Amino acid sequence: MKNDYKKCSRCGKIKSIYAFSQDRSRRDNLCLWCKECQLEYRQINKEWISIRNHRRYVIKKKTILAQQRQYNIRNQIKQKQYRKNRYYNPDTTRKFTIQRHEKQYNIYPGGRLIHDVIAEKILKRRLKKGEIVHHVDNNGLNNRYDNLIICTRSYHNYLHRQHLR
Ligand SMILES: [Zn+2]
Ligand SMILES: [Zn+2]
Repeated sequence: MKNDYKKCSRCGKIKSIYAFSQDRSRRDNLCLWCKECQLEYRQINKEWISIRNHRRYVIKKKTILAQQRQYNIRNQIKQKQYRKNRYYNPDTTRKFTIQRHEKQYNIYPGGRLIHDVIAEKILKRRLKKGEIVHHVDNNGLNNRYDNLIICTRSYHNYLHRQHLR
């Protein structure tokens, strides 16, 4: 059959279609050159092909790295928003209880004391050095707004001395 043969555009020989590699970009699904010609070409242009492949690899690598960088930036923004949301949602975040100075307190998985976070939410800023959050009823687990006082370390010590009396 006529369709079972194809003329190689390099060597000009008419060969069986099985002597040609597949090329899906072409209408007949076959390469222009026969396999033998392709092999010959590859052997002659070995160096050039390796340079070309390396160049393609470098370009590919650059685009992959750029994509990764963009993904990381997007992810960082997402994570930042996530952390911010977690920071402002004391009710929805999973809590743990820890023992400290013979009293129990709630902490977030990140390790921050929940009463500190709530106090910062009320203040709308981070706690400064030396600012202590005190529980009025001496119950470290009662983090209601009206149970928290922000005070200095010395005043905090004074409050606890009062409480022990
Ligand atoms: Zn050929
Ligand atoms: Zn206290």
